Amino acid sequence: MDLVISRPEGLYCPAGDFHIDPWRPVERSVITHAHSDHARAGNRHYLAASPGEGLLRTRLGQDINLQTLPYGERLLHHGVILSFHPAGHVLGSAQLRLEYGGEVWVASGDFKTEADNTCTPFEPVRCDTFITESTFGLPIYRWQPQAQVFAEINQWWQANAAQDKASVLFCYSLGKAQRILHGIDATIGPILVHGAVEPINQVYRDAGVYLPPTLHASEVKKSDPMMRKALIIAPPSAGGSSWMNRFGDYSDGFASGWMRVRGTRRRRGVDRGFVLSDHADWPGLLWAIEQTGAERVMVTHGSVATLVRHLREQGLDARAFDTEYGDEDEAVTDEREHAEVLS
Ligand SMILES: [Zn+2]
Ligand SMILES: [Zn+2]
Repeated sequence: MDLVISRPEGLYCPAGDFHIDPWRPVERSVITHAHSDHARAGNRHYLAASPGEGLLRTRLGQDINLQTLPYGERLLHHGVILSFHPAGHVLGSAQLRLEYGGEVWVASGDFKTEADNTCTPFEPVRCDTFITESTFGLPIYRWQPQAQVFAEINQWWQANAAQDKASVLFCYSLGKAQRILHGIDATIGPILVHGAVEPINQVYRDAGVYLPPTLHASEVKKSDPMMRKALIIAPPSAGGSSWMNRFGDYSDGFASGWMRVRGTRRRRGVDRGFVLSDHADWPGLLWAIEQTGAERVMVTHGSVATLVRHLREQGLDARAFDTEYGDEDEAVTDEREHAEVLS
């Protein structure tokens, strides 16, 4: 019998009677991380890795019924041993390891293999069956080292500031925004953030992650000369809204793994695209899968068919797992985020 199966509510562990990142409300949920396609409201009970507590409560409500477990610590539930291991995706993100009857399964959630200083780096976990994401599961997705991307952003910001132009950088407000804030050169000019970003910044700062000082964009007047030297971090949903009027003449950019695809920047209607993702690229996915030593791989959200085919060619027992996970940078999530911003 499989330790994890796909059910209409989400991935389900029959032996332990709990769901993993369910997309419909359930009795007992185990949550890998706080992105909205994985952590949803309405579950009666939540279990998550301790470093993710602040983000989960900020997103889902301070009063959710949440039990936390430090990375690596084991919890016995209905004969199933559960433990969380760093996924390197965003603050508190975890892979879930399940052991039952001598068999080990690991559900990756979302993960990234390049370490950054805003969350605990990805740690491969040995298992028999690995449930992997495949958001960027195509050979065209290969990331440059993040230092190079930050250097590009710095250069763009500096050039704009020299021309008295504000720089508006769109990126997802949970994880990507903080990674950028941590990585850029804050001496170039003032940094302003959208109202959707600052509460998340606070959680990161409370967790001991260094972020440079930020100002609420709405608190700075359009006439203030500092506006023309500023970098403004905003969620994609702010683009095209009246919120943008305050910046006068500005250059805009978008930071996302999807910027690797020709045409995405133009479709987004921005001046610059920066290829920066919190997900593993193609070599990262293959490396992570190999490190687990798993003979069986279940593939969720993303380029499922391509990755499954590739793994089968490598002699692995690979198959697709039907889920309703999306990607935080995709349009559907932008709309969800937009609704949050407006409320
Ligand atoms: Zn995610
Ligand atoms: Zn995801």
